[in-house]
Amino acid sequence: MRVVVLLGAPGAGKGTQAQLLAGRLGLVHVATGDLFRAAVRSGTALGREAGAYMERGALVPDELTLRILFERLEAPDASAGVLLDGFPRTLAQAEALDAALAERGSRVEVAPLIEVPEKELVTRLSGRWTCRADGHVYHALANPPRLAGVCDVDGSELYQRDDDRPETVRARLASQLGALTEVVDHYARAGVLVRVDGRRPIEAVTADLLTALAPAGRSRSAVG
Ligand SMILES: [Zn+2]
Repeated sequence: MRVVVLLGAPGAGKGTQAQLLAGRLGLVHVATGDLFRAAVRSGTALGREAGAYMERGALVPDELTLRILFERLEAPDASAGVLLDGFPRTLAQAEALDAALAERGSRVEVAPLIEVPEKELVTRLSGRWTCRADGHVYHALANPPRLAGVCDVDGSELYQRDDDRPETVRARLASQLGALTEVVDHYARAGVLVRVDGRRPIEAVTADLLTALAPAGRSRSAVG
C-alpha cells in the first residue's frame, strides 16, 4: 500500500491538489477533519471516543487519531494506498505515524511539499472581503468585486472580518509554519521529501506533483 503525505501551509492549495491527485492516482484522499467526522457518523467505538473530544472543543489525541486513521486504511477502497492531507501536523505525529507504519511493515513512500513563500500565503489568506448588507464574499485575487470595496450584488460596502486581516493571518501563520517546518525537516531526513513550487497555476502544480509521485520522476527530482 502506498502512503503519501501531502505537505503545505494553509493557503498553499493542499486540499485542492490532494483531491486532484487522489483521483488521478487511485489513492484514497484522507483529510483528518473528514476522517473524524466520518468516524463520529459511523458510531464506532473509536468514533464515539473522538466525538467526545470534539464536543468539548478539545483536540483529538494523536494516539486516537492514529487508531482511527489505521481503521480507515484497512477499508477495501484504501487497498491501493492513501494520500494523507492534514496529518501529520507535528513532529510527534510524524514519528508516531512512522512507528505505526513500521509495525505493519510499511513506511511513508513520499512526502511532497507544496512550497509558497510566507508573503504570498498572507496575500492569499487575507484576500477575503465580506459585504456588510448580506455577507456576500469576495476574494481580492480569486474572485474580486467589479468595483473595489463595493458588493456586486447589492452595492453595499465590503469590509474585512478580523480573521481575514493581514495582521491576524500573519500571526496565525507564524505558529502553523513552525510546526510544518519540523515535519518537513523530518521527511527531508528520511529522504522522502520532494519540494514543488506552489506559486504557479493549479494545473502546473498538479503536473509537478504527479511527476514527484511517479517512481521514475522522483529519482530525477531534487530531494530534500
Ligand atoms: Zn452584498
